[in-house]
Amino acid sequence: MTTQPSIPLLTQNNGLSIPQIGLGIYGPDDSGSADAVATAIEVGYRGIDTAALYQNESGVGEGIRRAGIAREKLYVTTKLDGDRHGYDAAQRAFDTSLSKLGLDYVDLYLIHWPLPGVDMYVETWKAFEKILADGRTRSIGVSNFQPAHLERLFDETTVKPVLNQIELHPGLPNMAVREFNTAHGILTEAWSPLGRGRVFGNPTLEKIATKHGKSIAQVVIRWHVEQDNVVIPKSVTRARLVENLDVYDFALDAEDLAGIASLENGVRTGDDPDLYNG
Ligand code: NAD
Repeated sequence: MTTQPSIPLLTQNNGLSIPQIGLGIYGPDDSGSADAVATAIEVGYRGIDTAALYQNESGVGEGIRRAGIAREKLYVTTKLDGDRHGYDAAQRAFDTSLSKLGLDYVDLYLIHWPLPGVDMYVETWKAFEKILADGRTRSIGVSNFQPAHLERLFDETTVKPVLNQIELHPGLPNMAVREFNTAHGILTEAWSPLGRGRVFGNPTLEKIATKHGKSIAQVVIRWHVEQDNVVIPKSVTRARLVENLDVYDFALDAEDLAGIASLENGVRTGDDPDLYNG
């Protein structure tokens, strides 16, 4: 079984860390998620990334129970749905997520999108600070926040996010947000790390993969790991789950990195956080 390092979370000063490679579970329904989560834990995953929006928190909880692992060995992330922004609404939504997961606490609770047109993320973050203070989540963070959104949190609230989960893959290295995160001690977590499947069949990646005797998925996940990103590739297939963790026995060289850098095209697989309002 492959085990992977955990990365320290810095901004909330409580000595916690997050597994570097986790399972992203956007897509499967409750039943499929329960199977995938149980399998992932069995083959060595300790981090799981879900969201209220994915409508599979009950299945994720079921998979965790089925795996029979001690709760404290796992790192469970969920996210607030867009239509639940606001101080009271966010706290109620958190209760619902916790109850669906069947857990006493989550490790990380994220604002899924800033929704700048709705303009309630500051008030929502204050609810997150309360949930953190109550000990019902170990850490709080954000997703899809641009530097301007983070600056507002810094100016108008008390606790800095531990992590910012953003779209990040070879086509969209998202360097400006990543550098801003790092400058503020905020960890970057890559969503759609395989470009939602778009990396497959790419001849440049194929060449690098062949050179190292690895798969394209492993080359791209290794690229994330070498940038110290947290990375949450999605798969429900046992062999792929195993493959996606098995990236700690090779390293990319300068030529590989230049090849991967040449794949940047700025094309998003998802929404633009400055424009998306739910
Ligand atoms: P991804 O980049 O992880 O790609 C998933 C695709 O790659 C799937 O089709 C899967 O079958 C395939 N795949 C995975 N491993 C493979 C392998 N070894 N060989 C061949 N194919 C393989 O895409 P994603 O699911 O969009 O992103 C991952 C996770 O990121 C999601 O599940 C979710 O948890 C998170 N996410 C977050 C947001 C957000 O707004 N915060 C948005 C999208 C996704």
